[in-house]
Amino acid sequence: MTGSALPTGQRTAELAANLARVQERIAAASAAAGRRREDVTLIVVTKTYPAQDVRALAGLGVRQVAENRDQEAGPKAAALADLPLRWHFVGQLQTNKARSVVRYADHVHSVDRLRLVGALSAAASAASRQIGCLVQVALDAESGDRGERGGVAPDAVAPLADAIAAAEGLRLDGVMTVAPLAGPYAGQPRAAFDRLMEISSRLRETHPAANMVSAGMSQDLDEAVAAGATHLRVGTAVLGVRPGLR
Ligand SMILES: *Cc1c(COP(=O)(O)O)cnc(C)c1O
Repeated sequence: MTGSALPTGQRTAELAANLARVQERIAAASAAAGRRREDVTLIVVTKTYPAQDVRALAGLGVRQVAENRDQEAGPKAAALADLPLRWHFVGQLQTNKARSVVRYADHVHSVDRLRLVGALSAAASAASRQIGCLVQVALDAESGDRGERGGVAPDAVAPLADAIAAAEGLRLDGVMTVAPLAGPYAGQPRAAFDRLMEISSRLRETHPAANMVSAGMSQDLDEAVAAGATHLRVGTAVLGVRPGLR
């Protein structure tokens, strides 16, 4: 059972308390790193939780939300179209879902192959939309491979970024990673995020506007802020533990 089985008022109070704790963590981590709080954006990952929870979060001031499956995100975004929300897509994305995703997503954080760039570009152009794209970096992938949870090896970031920047309907916004569970960075989120920052710095030499650095989840958002992340993707710490593994 998740907290969403609670009556609405109690659930809203629970979400408010969780959100306040996360905001305190971000404020403390920003202060410790000598960063301005407004330079860090919280994106609440609402996957597996009902639209009603997202509506409650919007009432609490949340403006950026993320989902990882189109089948779930599409109907949710449609049901909440009256709210001033920005939708981020953060999951592994099949090319045949591109047309659906560009209808509601403002940003796709999980761009990790040329075919997906092509599909998103065609879909965005057809819908007369501009989609902000982030290259997902797999810090545990060897050259030429993709990561277990998506993403390209660090040496493949530049060509993919160039392709996004040149694609109609797409805008290159930056880079994203998930701290690896295996390989040399396992259990070392700070080192992983420092590496992502290096990759971001190199990218900005040729694409200065691509300044989004999406890193940090419930467990490691503090390390992400310390390393310099601009966007945090936080689910569990706001909504509660998800039933099952997602
Ligand atoms: C689910 C998810 C998150 C949020 O993870 P939590 O541990 O629940 O904070 C962040 N990023 C991606 C890509 C996710 O799939």
